[in-house]
Amino acid sequence: MANTIDGAGRATPLVLVVEDEPAIATAVAHRMRAEGWTAEIAADGITAVETALRILPDVVVLDVMLPGLDGLEVCRRIQAEHPIPVIMLTARDDETDMLVGLGVGADDYLTKPFSMRELVARTRSLLRRVERSAQLAARQSTLPTIVSGDVVIDRAQRRVSRAGAEIHLTPTEFDLLMTLATSPRTVLTREKLLAEVWDWIDASGTRTVDSHVKALRRKLGPDLIRTVHGVGYAFEPTPGS
Ligand code: CA
Repeated sequence: MANTIDGAGRATPLVLVVEDEPAIATAVAHRMRAEGWTAEIAADGITAVETALRILPDVVVLDVMLPGLDGLEVCRRIQAEHPIPVIMLTARDDETDMLVGLGVGADDYLTKPFSMRELVARTRSLLRRVERSAQLAARQSTLPTIVSGDVVIDRAQRRVSRAGAEIHLTPTEFDLLMTLATSPRTVLTREKLLAEVWDWIDASGTRTVDSHVKALRRKLGPDLIRTVHGVGYAFEPTPGS
């Protein structure tokens, strides 16, 4: 992946802003540049996919409602080629849930209207996370595989299978599962998970945690992650492990 902050590629992070409303697109790009990042704009879905695969940005800020190809399809097409981190801009909270349910594979979701400050903070944390993931992956390559019943979490290869079938997880979903599975039967609060996985400490992001837990349950089965109401989530080893 063309990542930057590790010094392997570009000197500054590159963000692709996909938004068809010119005023918003310009304002977001302007703000990103003020952060010292490079920002490019794509105003429709087809151009977004083409641009993302050509310039391989470090983060894509992706509006859902786009002419031509909507944000869902843009995200799918990009992710099918490259695991580029995506922040999806949605119109409502329940739209976020719907997108997660469809397994679109965005790393974070932000509901419109949002503050520029919040978008920048989320983008920055995603950039940090990408950098950390690369370091983590290097370190994890020596960690033993977690086996829990018929679930196998290969930390070195960052692969997960259940009952012998490989489960495709996004990098964020994998990090969340690993964080939970590393401390089985331990309740981790949403805030703790946000801090660990997203490197993000604002409680407004806890919805993102819920959305990703839903995605993990959909892909891995409903029995692995227990909800502790009002507190958080716990990884429950499957019987026989
Ligand atoms: Ca739009």
